Amino acid sequence: MENRLDFKIDLRKKSFLRQLFEKSINEIYIFHPKSLKFYAVNQAARMNLGFSSEDLSNMTPVDLKPEMSVDLFKKLLEPLIKGEKGTISFQTKHQRKDGTLYPVEVNLQLINYRGKNLCIAFISDITERVLIEDEIKETQLKFDVVINSVRDAIVIIDDQDRVTFWNKAAENIFGYFWEEVIWKKLNQFLVPGSYYKPHIEKIKHNLLKGKGNFLDETLEMKARHKDGKEIFLEASLSIFNFKDNWYSVEIARDISERKKLEEENRIKEDRLRLMLGGLPTPAWLITKNKKILAQNKMAEKLFHTKVNGYCWEEIHSRKYIQKTNRDVYENTGVPLPDTKCYYCKADEALLKNESINTEVDLEDKVWDTWWIPLGGDIYLHYANDVTVYKNIEKELYLLSVTDPLTGAYNRRYFLERLDIEIERGKRTNSKFSVIMLDIDNFKSINDKFGHNAGDLVLKSLSEMIKSRIRKIDIFARWGGEEFVILLPETTPQKASILAEDLRVRLNYLEIEDINGITVSCGIAGSRQWDSVDSLIERADNLMYEAKAVGKNCVRYEELG
Ligand code: GH3
Ligand code: MG
Ligand code: MG
Repeated sequence: MENRLDFKIDLRKKSFLRQLFEKSINEIYIFHPKSLKFYAVNQAARMNLGFSSEDLSNMTPVDLKPEMSVDLFKKLLEPLIKGEKGTISFQTKHQRKDGTLYPVEVNLQLINYRGKNLCIAFISDITERVLIEDEIKETQLKFDVVINSVRDAIVIIDDQDRVTFWNKAAENIFGYFWEEVIWKKLNQFLVPGSYYKPHIEKIKHNLLKGKGNFLDETLEMKARHKDGKEIFLEASLSIFNFKDNWYSVEIARDISERKKLEEENRIKEDRLRLMLGGLPTPAWLITKNKKILAQNKMAEKLFHTKVNGYCWEEIHSRKYIQKTNRDVYENTGVPLPDTKCYYCKADEALLKNESINTEVDLEDKVWDTWWIPLGGDIYLHYANDVTVYKNIEKELYLLSVTDPLTGAYNRRYFLERLDIEIERGKRTNSKFSVIMLDIDNFKSINDKFGHNAGDLVLKSLSEMIKSRIRKIDIFARWGGEEFVILLPETTPQKASILAEDLRVRLNYLEIEDINGITVSCGIAGSRQWDSVDSLIERADNLMYEAKAVGKNCVRYEELG
């Protein structure tokens, strides 16, 4: 048996070998393979176990192994005794005299000494090694948990582009299991090596200059998933040297979703820009926090606005924002979050996700203004200058309520206003009066001076009355040479003072050859139960009373 230690030693060597055995720092036991009794146990073993030579002379190795029986141990030795094995190695625990246990690695061999078979056991106390192994196991466990719970792919490649490490996230992101990629070249199935090789060279170069072992930027790259789908990655790269080989570590994040969104947003923005350009009015794309994202040519030309500025600043130079907001912005350069023009409806439109359209009067112009939410906290804002149409509308309205000859309001408008005043009177108990005024003997003026002169009289009378009454009073042509005046918050008696004044002034009015005209007035005061008709009727009656008593006078109701 080539592995069997031969103890054919000459006598000179004998004491040297005994010393070698006794003083060896390794623990050595020699025992009988059959009885298992110890033949010799060296000093190192005795020290560690705490047993004396005497103690040990009646013991067997099984006495040191609490979990081992004699039969079991004998079975263990069998292959050695039968010569099937030269050495038997195993790990177990030995028990000291004081009862404490320590882990050991046992190497058993058979020796022939003076024709006798003996078992020699070399024992290594592996307490330290077990401790270190446990620590390594714990570190490995923590490492595995961390590495496999991150959502970034972690891939380590050797200098021949072969994958040497591949975590769970890498399996998810690329679709390949660890077993499929290990020791395979990465560029076969992911990204061409030419893509990151120059970066690795750059890091090596930086490393030489003492700049660290990583790339100081993230890389964006395209890769292909196992299913053929293109994926976008954001990767960071670092390198390390181990046993004279360079390895690179790639930590990659799947940004396909983000890229997709960015692309969608870009298409959307392009479309919006096209739409902006097509609008015939100044138009802006504005964010929720009132920053201009884009604008069309008209906006640039008419308002000289700039992209990225605040709309309230660019369009109207802060003119229409609240004073406190203006003060804060001017003092700090940072606007308060609620800074906006006083008429702005953007927040409301965004909140309701509905377009809002209103007319905005700004100085001498009227703007038909829109706020149209477009999703993603962006809205389209545009305004149409409708000042011309507004003026026409105003003129048309004025024409519809005034008498063309005299410029006084017409009967229809007067009746509307009277109706409103009656209703208001009922609600608030406010009092008002109506003067009915009729030119005396107007027919004879026409007859004497001509119809044109008659018209002139009507105009001049209207001018004069308009200049004398208050803004809230309504002066209207009732028909022919009859006029009415509605005087809010006025008693008939007070109204009679005005009527009297008008009457006297008209007496002195000179129109071409006509020296003064006379008028008769009837004044009715509002009552709780009045209707338009009842009030007009009373004023009319009083006016006729004035005619009846000789014209050129005023008659009014004396209210109780
Ligand atoms: P009285 O003192 O009783 O009120 O007499 P009068 O002549 O003023 O009243 P009458 O109703 O008899 O005549 C009113 C005249 O007013 C008749 C009509 O030709 C004239 N008239 C009505 N509208 C106009 C107008 O727009 N222009 C001119 N020039 N005359 C008008
Ligand atoms: Mg009349
Ligand atoms: Mg008349």
